[in-house]
Amino acid sequence: MPYNKNNIFAKILRREADAKIVYENDYVLCFNDILPKAKIHVLIIPKNEYSNIYDFSKNSSSQEKESIFLAFETLIELFKLDKSGCRIITNHEIDGRQEVPHLHFHFLGGQDLGKMINI
Ligand code: AMP
Repeated sequence: MPYNKNNIFAKILRREADAKIVYENDYVLCFNDILPKAKIHVLIIPKNEYSNIYDFSKNSSSQEKESIFLAFETLIELFKLDKSGCRIITNHEIDGRQEVPHLHFHFLGGQDLGKMINI
């Protein structure tokens, strides 16, 4: 599916919608989730247009991939979670229940997050 430029994260990237930005580098933007599911809930998104993790895995540059990991590292340090831990997940398409069609990683922490999924 082609990338949909009207999604809310594309609007945040164009500064047409507000977000509480917590970290940014040349390739990545990190901002608070509007409906946090944990005490810390940050979304990590690439600045370029990728619909999901598969699109990003196939089509992004090494620098873009590296920047995602740099964001993980930076957020762990920013929130001092290296010992207590956190959870980083991405939902992919239908079975993953991805709602916003711009790749994003959920960075969750600040509390015991419970089991990963309940089926
Ligand atoms: P997903 O189901 O993985 O696509 O997650 C989408 C996430 O985006 C949800 O956790 C929403 O709460 C979050 N979200 C939707 N709109 C906004 C917004 N304007 N600012 C920040 N987070 C948002």
